[in-house]
Amino acid sequence: MSLSRLRGLVTGAASGIGLATAALLLDRGAEIIAFDLMESEGAGRLTERGADLVLGDVSQPADRRRLADAVGSCDFLVNAAGIMRAAPILELQPPEWDALMSVNAASVFFLSQLIGPNVRDGGSIVNVSSVAARRAANLETAAYAATKSAVLSITRSFAHAFADRGVRVNAVVPGLIDTPMQDRLVEDTARIRGRRLEELDRDRTEGVPFARLGTAEEVAEAIVWLISPQSSYITGQAVAVDGGMTMF
Ligand code: NAD
Repeated sequence: MSLSRLRGLVTGAASGIGLATAALLLDRGAEIIAFDLMESEGAGRLTERGADLVLGDVSQPADRRRLADAVGSCDFLVNAAGIMRAAPILELQPPEWDALMSVNAASVFFLSQLIGPNVRDGGSIVNVSSVAARRAANLETAAYAATKSAVLSITRSFAHAFADRGVRVNAVVPGLIDTPMQDRLVEDTARIRGRRLEELDRDRTEGVPFARLGTAEEVAEAIVWLISPQSSYITGQAVAVDGGMTMF
């Protein structure tokens, strides 16, 4: 599958799922603008391969505007930047709620609003939601789950908004994916629950029929397929990449 005539933006491209997606898009011949808060070894490898790296914060309106100006007209937008703040559901405070909402949900809405009109007819937007949106079973990630439910709603709304130009808007719904964010979540949950890290690490795949974590590359494959013309009749969908953790 060659994407050699396509150009677009990946947020959160310095780590994990965003990094794997950016790397796979480069493999397929696409031109990319990588956006992140920070530089990283992975982001360095992307720039060595020809990606443009723009630094900034997806939750800041001025940074989003600067990014939209840098991107101009394009073929795809991948909203992968995200944060996790674990806290017990009865203790989470408004500042954490606001930070999660603004990075994970508001940024997806406003980047779609700013960049979506510049996505060429027939192009694609892919948002990264989470299995947390569907299960909400982990009581330390209630606010995070709410942001990822919002991402699904935003995905449907923009799928309607851009359908007349054939611009498709879909979400991927990753399960437990082996990235730095997942490592930090297990550490934070172990601390909050007063449990040993090794125990939680062992137990966390119990609800996964495939009994393993997924890789960032496996999620990237689904995202790149949703960008590609191979998924040309698919919009407003949430594609789970979760080893069977949720079934439709
Ligand atoms: P990660 O922490 O490895 O990568 C996230 C990237 O987003 C980092 O490079 C970080 O710097 C960047 N980022 C964070 N806040 C930003 C901001 N304000 N502006 C710009 N960039 C910012 O995490 P990951 O696991 O690769 O997560 C990627 C996406 O996948 C996130 O939206 C996350 O919620 C989602 N997700 C992850 C999992 C999982 O198990 N890892 C599961 C479901 C969904």
